[in-house]
Amino acid sequence: MTPDYPTARPTDASQLEDQPALPTELLNLPWIDPHNHAHTLSWEDRERYALSGCRSMVMVASGYHWTPYKPARASDIRFLWDDALNRRAAIERNHFFEAKLGLGVHTGVRIENPDELLAAMDDYAALDEVVAIGETGMTPSQHVEAWALDEQRGVVQAQMELARDHDLPVILHTPNTGTASKRHYRDGLGTPGYEKNPGMGTEPVLDGENPELEAVRLDIEAAHDAGLPERRVVASHADGNNTAYLMDETDCYLSYTIGHSWLVGVDAADVANAIDEYGPERIMVDTDCANVLRTDPYALKRAIFELYRYGIDPEAIRRVVYENPRDVFGLADA
Ligand SMILES: [Zn+2]
Repeated sequence: MTPDYPTARPTDASQLEDQPALPTELLNLPWIDPHNHAHTLSWEDRERYALSGCRSMVMVASGYHWTPYKPARASDIRFLWDDALNRRAAIERNHFFEAKLGLGVHTGVRIENPDELLAAMDDYAALDEVVAIGETGMTPSQHVEAWALDEQRGVVQAQMELARDHDLPVILHTPNTGTASKRHYRDGLGTPGYEKNPGMGTEPVLDGENPELEAVRLDIEAAHDAGLPERRVVASHADGNNTAYLMDETDCYLSYTIGHSWLVGVDAADVANAIDEYGPERIMVDTDCANVLRTDPYALKRAIFELYRYGIDPEAIRRVVYENPRDVFGLADA
């Protein structure tokens, strides 16, 4: 029964029956971003994480975007680790969310002396602040100078061995196939929204029909050789090209990156489809927000509402945005 309304003439209000219950618990649901580069963002962007209910995050320091010299040297990457370590506690004190670190060696740019870096990494991995190794993983082609496949493989596997020794999860940077854009941009300008000089990509070291998927297969092979259990691998940038393989043939976690959907073509609808098909047990959502990309610190909070609208129940949403990253990275326990 709808009440009688004193409106001058009938409005929709008098015809609304059987309204759905609204998921008010989602308004305050804590969430965890298990892969971002928030230490490179503005103070205001980090505040946006806090304002929208972020409980914990893993700030990843490994990317070559922030090393000016290419090819890079071990000391360049180590500076990134030290910068993140230096600022981490101040970030927590400013915003109240838990900010932990992922440290790793990315393979998007060749590093001249990676052994020096890997030798230093053991002591970093022992720190309480460090909750993950990565992001890393095989990259089909590099920026500026190619990195031979077997050398990349050695660097990735060595990091996985360190992760095994320290019982840490590894965040993989799985390559994406991207979106089918309607039109190419003018030569020489690059992609707006992604600060990367165009025309410096090298010839691929991994080709064939599906190099993006082949890279992930090689990563899993490296994990096996390193003795790292598949359950300790979080494949970030999961997408339509690698989901079936990772779900059907491995026990890895899949983290869907939704902070720059315009670039990778993955959004909450893809996450909802994956939950429908495989269940929420091995699924997470991350933003990958970074200052070199057009990214959205509110993306994960928005995805919480979108997942509900797409028919996912609140328990499953809580599982993918909070419980899974909490348990895998050992976060939010205080
Ligand atoms: Zn990233």
